[in-house]
Amino acid sequence: MAWRDLESQKDGEIYPEWLNISAVLDVAGEVSHYIAVFTDISQIKKHERELEYLAYFDPMTGVPNRTLLSDRMRLAIARSRRENTLFALGYLDLDSFKPVNDQLGHAVGDRYLVEIAQRIKSVLRDDDTIARLGGDEFVVLVQGLQKPEECYSTFERLLAKVAEPMEMDRHRLLTTASIGITLFPMDDADADTLLRHADHAMYQAKEAGKNRYQIYDPIIEAEARNHRELIERIERALKRQEFVLHYQPKVDLHSGQVMGVEALIRWQDPERGLMQPGSFLPVIQDHPISKQIDQWVLGEAIQQMMQWRSLNIDVGISVNISGQTLQASDFINNLASLLQKYPTLDPACLEIEVLETVALDDITYVSEIIAQVQRLGIHFALDDFGTGYSSLRYLKHLRAEVLKIDQSFVRDMLKDDEDLAIVEGVIGLSRAFNRKVVAEGVESQAHCLRLIELGCDLVQGYGIAKPMSAAHLVAWIKKWTPPAEWRRLKGF
Ligand code: C2E
Ligand code: MG
Ligand code: MG
Repeated sequence: MAWRDLESQKDGEIYPEWLNISAVLDVAGEVSHYIAVFTDISQIKKHERELEYLAYFDPMTGVPNRTLLSDRMRLAIARSRRENTLFALGYLDLDSFKPVNDQLGHAVGDRYLVEIAQRIKSVLRDDDTIARLGGDEFVVLVQGLQKPEECYSTFERLLAKVAEPMEMDRHRLLTTASIGITLFPMDDADADTLLRHADHAMYQAKEAGKNRYQIYDPIIEAEARNHRELIERIERALKRQEFVLHYQPKVDLHSGQVMGVEALIRWQDPERGLMQPGSFLPVIQDHPISKQIDQWVLGEAIQQMMQWRSLNIDVGISVNISGQTLQASDFINNLASLLQKYPTLDPACLEIEVLETVALDDITYVSEIIAQVQRLGIHFALDDFGTGYSSLRYLKHLRAEVLKIDQSFVRDMLKDDEDLAIVEGVIGLSRAFNRKVVAEGVESQAHCLRLIELGCDLVQGYGIAKPMSAAHLVAWIKKWTPPAEWRRLKGF
């Protein structure tokens, strides 16, 4: 049995035939005849071709479908490696196809998509591929590039072509497209991942205002992924109680006494060890978890204060609060219910520190919050003061009891006259407005002596003590005596 192409005797057309040959034996058992039966199988062959077509092409627009696209992408990856060229994968989605379908019906919608496919095709070279993934989503594969820039003009032409008005059933239709592009081998991924990345960039193009293309950036994407992972780890760390507070003493320059401590968060990461806040707080700055962390810090600090109180150690604690927490509508209520849990606690032992820059963000609202915090009996400090361009008018409204001079000015005040002038200025301001002033980042005795001369109230910094665990702090406070020179200067 076999099939072959035969020429029809009637009209000369070639058609495939199925040939079945049977041998006929005579009485002696010898072959006497052969019987050949021909069948015209062109219908079956046609059907086969149709099935094959359906497997690889989109029946409506006639362009390759997802299966053939995957195949072409695999070939493109191989070619790019072999020839050392790049290819661009563009994921295109129409910006307003749904109204066409909804208002003019599916038949018009279908013709519309066929026309769009033709338009896309008209912009591409023979070498390139267009595929339809379904709906109004198309993919184009532009190959053989030497530089990424080479494909930009193709995509610009594509956007322009799609945006040309279309007449259909006496309707003038207008649409645009958003395209996400990823470039291989900069984005060195497999076919499925490349498609996903281009899709992702397409959504960014939509978010950025539609009718544009957006290039997928693997570096930005990797950063975004790291960011997401770090946030997840921080959320886990909070549940697993991996955060700890360290405390840095604040010493009163008028009396030489330890007046309080600032609670500073650390992350005891089982893998990476003790992490400083600079390595994780900026990551969660705009994330709701920062509110939960601040809430935890407040609770933990108060508990710690109660514990010290039971050991007869009388220090106040200041706690840093993020702008997000401060501006949350439930902040004051949460604070009030926290205080209710500790009726023996004097709220005046608690101080809330907020960055001056945060306070200036929405000065009317923040001054109202400050007032409400103070009504609860809690004190308020403006942290990193001097970095936020506070004008005198603002300072009048922000009625915080304490100003903390930013450490950048304190650090260099002994050798930089301008920094010294700022430190002097903030001390003068705090006098004029009747606030307490803390110099932070005080790294040496020389700093302390100069700050005493300038009339500063409190100092905090490595020159006094580094932040330390609660257990170490107790021992440190017991040992603390102010340097003799302070006593000589201040006479205490
Ligand atoms: P901050 O509130 O201005 O805290 C002072 C920072 O300066 C602390 O860094 C402290 O360790 C450091 N420091 C203190 N004395 C010196 C010194 O003499 N020299 C130098 N070079 N540095 C000194 P830390 O603990 O890394 O905290 C950094 C910032 O992170 C804090 O600045 C605060 O804005 C924020 N932060 C810390 N803990 C928390 C927290 O529990 N919640 C919130 N929301 N923010 C926090
Ligand atoms: Mg602070
Ligand atoms: Mg500060």
